[in-house]
Amino acid sequence: MVASALFLKSVLLVPGAGLAAMLLVGASYAQDPSGDTGDPSDDTGDAATDSATDGAGAANQEWSYSGATGPAQWALLSEEYEACDGNAQSPIDITDATPDDTLGALDVSYVPVSVERDPEQYVTTFEVEDAGGFAVDGRHYMLVEFHFHTPSEHTVEGQRFAAEAHFVHEGEDGTPAVVAVMVEEGAANDPLESVLPGTADRGNAAGTQPQVDPGALLPESNAYYTYTGSLTTPPCTEGVHWFVLQEPVEASPEQTRRLKGEGTNRPVQPLNGRTVAASE
Ligand SMILES: [Zn+2]
Repeated sequence: MVASALFLKSVLLVPGAGLAAMLLVGASYAQDPSGDTGDPSDDTGDAATDSATDGAGAANQEWSYSGATGPAQWALLSEEYEACDGNAQSPIDITDATPDDTLGALDVSYVPVSVERDPEQYVTTFEVEDAGGFAVDGRHYMLVEFHFHTPSEHTVEGQRFAAEAHFVHEGEDGTPAVVAVMVEEGAANDPLESVLPGTADRGNAAGTQPQVDPGALLPESNAYYTYTGSLTTPPCTEGVHWFVLQEPVEASPEQTRRLKGEGTNRPVQPLNGRTVAASE
C-alpha cells in the first residue's frame, strides 16, 4: 500500500505526462496521428495493436493488448511491471458479491471543469483539476482523470459491457481509488457526447473544450461493488480501491464505436481469495 501510494504521488508530480503515460491506457490511443474522423470504417478492430506503435504514445508504451507485448507478458516486459503478476490484480469478474449494509453511500461531488485538449489528438483520457471527488465512510478522494476502455474490463456475472469508464482518484493519503461505470449499448448518451473523440466542435483554436461535468456521466444510483485490486494497465500497481457502480449507463452503438481503442480491456484476473462486497 505504501508503495502504491508513493507511486501515484510520484506520478502526480509530473504534470500532464505521468498519469496519462504510465497509468492509463488512454494515452496509448490518444495519439492517433491518422486522425479519426468518426468514420466507422476506421475501426477495424486492430486498435489494440496500434496502441503500442502509434505516434507519440509509443514512447512510453512498450506494452500492448495482444501478442508478444500483450497482457500475459506484461510482468516480463519490465521490472517496473512486476506487479502485473501479483495476487490482487484487476479487472475481475464480479460474481457472488456479498451484500454489506455497513458500506457507506458513495457521496460524489464532482464539479464541471474545463478539460485541456490537444486538437491534434483524439483524447479518450481527460485529466482534470479541481473537479471535486467523492467521499465514502469518512474517506475523501479527489478526481484526477477519467478515461474509457472498450469493451468493459470488469464483467458482472460473466457479462461484458460495451465500454467501461474509469474515474481515477487519489485519496488524502495517496491511496488510489477508481470508480468504474459500465456502459451498455442503448439510447444515445448526451453527457458522453460532450467528451467523445470526433465530436464536431472539438479541437477549437484554443485547444480546450467546453466544460465537462464528470458527474453527468454517472448513473442515477451510486450503489456499488467494492474490492481491492490494481491498476489495469502496467505497472499494475496494487492497493487500488475499486468501486464498480452496479447500474450501467447507456450509449448508442455509434457512440461506443467512437470511444475508439476497441480491445483495450485486460482479461479478468483471478480473485485469489479476495471477496467482493455490494453496497445496498
Ligand atoms: Zn482504466
